[in-house]
Amino acid sequence: MKLNLIGGAWTEGVRTYRNINPSDTRDVVGDYTVASREQALDAVAAAHAAFAAWSLSTPQQRFDALDAAGSEILARKAELGDLLAREEGKTLPEAVGEVVRAGNIFKFFAGEALRTGGEVVPSVRPGVGVEVTREPLGVIGIITPWNFPIAIPAWKIAPALAYGNCVVFKPAELVPGSAWALADILSRAGFPPGVFNLVMGRGSDVGAVLLEDDRIAGISFTGSVATGKKVAASAVARGAKVQLEMGGKNPFVVLDDADIGVAVGAAINSGFFSTGQRCTASSRIIVTEGIHDRFVAAMVERMAALKVGDARAQGTDIGPVVDESQLAQDLEYIAIGLAEGAKLVAGGQSLGQNADGAPGFYLTPALFTETSAQMRINREEIFGPVASVIRAKNYDEALTLANDTAFGLSAGIATTSLKYATHFKRHAQAGMVMVNLPTAGVDYHVPFGGRKGSSYGPREQGRYAAEFYTTVKTAYTLA
Ligand code: NAD
Repeated sequence: MKLNLIGGAWTEGVRTYRNINPSDTRDVVGDYTVASREQALDAVAAAHAAFAAWSLSTPQQRFDALDAAGSEILARKAELGDLLAREEGKTLPEAVGEVVRAGNIFKFFAGEALRTGGEVVPSVRPGVGVEVTREPLGVIGIITPWNFPIAIPAWKIAPALAYGNCVVFKPAELVPGSAWALADILSRAGFPPGVFNLVMGRGSDVGAVLLEDDRIAGISFTGSVATGKKVAASAVARGAKVQLEMGGKNPFVVLDDADIGVAVGAAINSGFFSTGQRCTASSRIIVTEGIHDRFVAAMVERMAALKVGDARAQGTDIGPVVDESQLAQDLEYIAIGLAEGAKLVAGGQSLGQNADGAPGFYLTPALFTETSAQMRINREEIFGPVASVIRAKNYDEALTLANDTAFGLSAGIATTSLKYATHFKRHAQAGMVMVNLPTAGVDYHVPFGGRKGSSYGPREQGRYAAEFYTTVKTAYTLA
């Protein structure tokens, strides 16, 4: 049984959560303890008590602990990647890539602990010196989704600790294995007891404790829009600093002048890799008239060759959907698309088992054509391997369609025209813009986040992370 980490002690919770492999539902990944509300409060108290000393720790002390964590994550990438693929269902290469990303993030923020400073600014008054410095915010509540169970926690926990904050981490219920492995590494990396705490459990009880407790100064949340709104309502109401990363309905534009190989490769990656379960996935492929039919034909051909199977089997392109309820949601959206009059030209079959007969949540990647911007399949986040093609007359209409969404996380374009690429980078209403690249797939050392309904609050990752995890002080001295 894997336990919670509260104030430096591995602590048994109040019930057991059994984790199942979505590639083979007969395979039990592990048993994890679930914290009570009282235990979540204990974790908050431990973090609060540890903050006084940790907020004054030296940059070298923070560097050493973060660097040690990053080194262990990287050294164990194969084992951790296997665990991640087994519990979440993304393919092994994607899972190992995610682990490497997490390790690199810890290394990056180890460096930020040494680099981040303030500035001396000239005063407008004679004889006065002005210094602007950054101080840690306090205790940070970190609430994460299941789809990137190591990378997303890493890109929140690492900056929080690097800037001198303490952390209470509540991972998604579905992926306790990856969360626990990360906590185990952090427990041995050199952070004093209470600086980092893990409480596994449901959002509605353990998560809610973090939102409501005045000892928590900031909440960093990634998840659905519906939960994000609840997080904002209660945390903002009590004056906590809040950072929300939520859903997406990311457009991928294909223009007549695109290299068709590049366009199809990027659209397949954007729509279907990680089984479409990425906030940066593109489920709206907007294609101009002149290339539409060729593009659709090439997509259907490439999709027929995609191998859906066990996430850890060699040669698998698309792993299973994460669980039964997500599969049911994907199938419901496929039914909605058909009812709305869209044409299903590829995939959309629930397989029930893989080629070896193992029962799992397998769905062949689905592509709709003859869709319109108003259809629900083009307005709501599906979060599965389901994409639609929307026909556009020309670039201008494609750009209008791309921006016609409540979300604004990532936007991509396939074109060989410098003019259109430059215009799109400027006018796409998204936090991240990709030219001839998939809408998903980002670097670990630069800002990540969106606009409109996708994000709220300061950006994550890179040195911009300091905006959320620190508070600024301006000091005046009369010499
Ligand atoms: P979710 O909103 O169901 O859950 C996210 C987390 O919030 C979980 O840890 C959950 O336990 C917790 N939670 C639920 N109710 C809560 C409450 N009342 N109080 C406090 N915490 C609560 O999301 P999910 O299904 O785990 O993840 C999928 C969603 O995440 C998708 O919408 C996806 O787009 C989004 N996502 C966004 C990004 C991004 O960076 N923008 C990245 C990955 C995933």
